[in-house]
Formats: sequence, C-alpha cells, structure tokens
Amino acid sequence: MSKTQFTTTVVHADRKLNPDSGAVHYPVVNSVLFGYENPQDLVDIFQGKQAGHAYARQSTPTTDALQSMVNDMEGGVGCLVFASGMAAITTTFFTLLKAGDHIIASQFLFGNTPSVLGTLQRFGVEVTQVDATNIELVKAAVQPNTKIIFTETIANPVTQIADLNGIGELCKQNNLVYIIDNTMTPSYIFNAKAVGASLITTSLTKYVGGHGTVTAGAVVDTGNYDWRDYDNILPSFRSQAPHAQALTQIKKKGLRDLGGCLSSDSAQMIAVGAETMALRIDRACANAQALAEFLDAHDKIAKVYYPGLQDHPQHQQAKTYFKQFGAIVSFDPVDSIDPVALLTELNLVISATHLGDNRTLALPVAQTIYFEMGLENRQKAGINENMIRMSVGIEEVDDLIADFSQALANI
Ligand SMILES: *Cc1c(COP(=O)(O)O)cnc(C)c1O
Repeated sequence: MSKTQFTTTVVHADRKLNPDSGAVHYPVVNSVLFGYENPQDLVDIFQGKQAGHAYARQSTPTTDALQSMVNDMEGGVGCLVFASGMAAITTTFFTLLKAGDHIIASQFLFGNTPSVLGTLQRFGVEVTQVDATNIELVKAAVQPNTKIIFTETIANPVTQIADLNGIGELCKQNNLVYIIDNTMTPSYIFNAKAVGASLITTSLTKYVGGHGTVTAGAVVDTGNYDWRDYDNILPSFRSQAPHAQALTQIKKKGLRDLGGCLSSDSAQMIAVGAETMALRIDRACANAQALAEFLDAHDKIAKVYYPGLQDHPQHQQAKTYFKQFGAIVSFDPVDSIDPVALLTELNLVISATHLGDNRTLALPVAQTIYFEMGLENRQKAGINENMIRMSVGIEEVDDLIADFSQALANI
C-alpha cells in the first residue's frame, strides 16, 4: 500500500466489504458454527472447493475482514490472524519446521520468542542465535539444513537494527524463508516486503490495536517466496496455488491444531484501532524523537538508545528502512540514580510493561522483563542494570518533557 494512501485505504476498507447494509464497520459475527441449507456447500467448504466458514477456530466473517485489512496494509498475498502475537509466531514456527531443521534467529528478540526457540530445540529443531546487525555472522551461521532466518526490525530494549536488506539478499541466494517480526515498525513506517521478507509476523496488540484493550497477532505472506521450493509443505497442501501453500498449512495444521484463534469481538477492536494507526504512529514517533533529544542533552542521563539520534550505531540504515524511527526510547540514568526511584518521580508516565500504547509507558529493564535471564545474559545483550525502556505515547510532548524535567530535578 502506498504510504500516501495508507489511512484513506484503511478507513474505507471495511465499508467496501458491506455493500448491502452500508455499515462502515464489518459486523461482529459471534457464531462458532456455520450451517448450510445445502449440505453439499459444507462438503465443498471442507474440501477447499468453496470459500466459506465452518467453525470459528479457523475463521469467521469478522476475522476474515481483519485479515483482508492487514493484508492490504502490508501489500501481501494473504494473511491469517491469531489470538496474540505469540500465537502467530509459535504457530508459524511449529507449522513450517520439523525435527532436524535449522533456524537462524537474531540474538536480540522480544523476550518470549527465545522461549519458543527453546521449545523448538526440545522438539529437535536446531537453533542458532546471532547478532543480526552483522551480516557476516548471519552468513556464517547458514548450514545445509537451514530453513528459516527470523529477525525483528528495531530490537527491544537496546534498539539494534538488523541488517534487513543484507539478510534479504542472503535468503534469496540460499532460497531460505525470511521471516520478519515487524511489530516495532508496522507497515506504515516499514515495507518488509521490499527488503525481501517471505512472511511477516506481527503483534497487532501493539501499534495496530494501539489502545491496550485486546491482544492479537497476524502472519502475512508477502508473495516473495515460491513455496514450491519449500520441502516442508505437506502433500495435501501442494494442490494450492504456490503463494497460498504456506498460509494454508499454517491455517490447517497450525491455527486449527494449536487453536490460537482470534475472536470476532477482538478482531473488530483491532480493525477500529488500525484506522488511526498512521496518525498515532506519526505522533508517537515525533514525541519519541523529542524525548530522546531531551534526555540525551540532560546531565543526569548517561546514555540514550534511539535510532533517530545521530550517534545511534545504525542511524544511517534506519533512515533508509523506516519512514520514522519508532517510538521506543531506552536510556541509562547516571550510575548514582536508581531507575526505580526515577520512575517513582514520574507522574504522567505509567510504570507498565507493553508497548505501542497511546499512553507513555516505562519500566526498569533489568529488574522486570529481563530479570529472569540473569546478569551475565543481560551483559551479553548490552543491557545495563539501570536501563529504563520507554514506549512513547501520543500525549502532548510538552507534558511528557515537563514530567521528565521535574522527575530528574527531584531525584
Ligand atoms: C509484544 C511482542 C510480541 C508478542 O505479541 P503479543 O501480542 O503480546 O503476544 C512479539 N514480538 C514483538 C516484537 C513484540 O513486541
């Protein structure tokens, strides 16, 4: 979708699916089962000869409408939605990999994803995690049994940016499936298809939903990969068009078996959130840039991690990949300041996990989301013990800066 048409297309997407009623939102269809006058229709739906719904664990008209919207936002050839971002990621991995395969993943990932990679290892999948900012390390990790390379765009909490183009080239040369988790930089600010992604996984809970009311996730097939070359597609899905083979398998063997399905109520809430995503992201990213600059210039802050700052290690790459630099700003106060004490002084900023919300959220990283991993692993990941991660919201920027000014003055 062209960036100039992004919001125009999204706000009119549902209406076009409802020509009869004129409803501008796709209706919430809360039915688990779908009955047919003519039993042959049910047979044809089961056999994939006819489109339609059978049971809500696979699809409902409302989840279909959201899939169509998310697919358009990403410029894909197909989309599936799930109960959460983790359901999307786990279902995709478990469906497309088997024992004896190898997956390369960035070593800088959202905390739950390495946990899934650990589970895959227990089921006999080999996993290598590498510094995905360094293409030579990614190249060196490729083995004869490598099937997938998986990375995020801007990593949490240190904001490293993977060599997204380089990995795309590498996957093309070796015919590997390239999966990008674009949660941090949704379609409006980053075109994952253009850097070669085969599949996009995303947590719709974050910027797309945006309001902190519902969890959801999606997988989009960009059309870049020819699934006829992927030997883990089961024979029964080979009859599908090449571009539909992977998503059909993820749906029939993943969504249906693992059951991580999105409810129709939740699907509509995400669709309503998506209408204002571009506006909210523009605002949140502008706020993030201003806050990053403010904190960077403050003598009680030792270091700021934000791709929009000139001295960020991948600032130049970030400029080429992203329309905006994202809304995650991490920072280390000077050693003498306890991060929990600093957060206590803030009045507006909420101490909470989660990101991509309308409200500005912050947390002390080592003491919360990365507590379990231990000191040694935190040091390897470049996480300082007093680091604070902030997800910048859409409040008035002057109010946010005023809150930090008073908190830093009082500490
Ligand atoms: C939050 C997040 C997820 C998981 O999404 P949920 O909807 O919370 O399950 C996956 N990847 C990234 C990068 C995330 O930030």
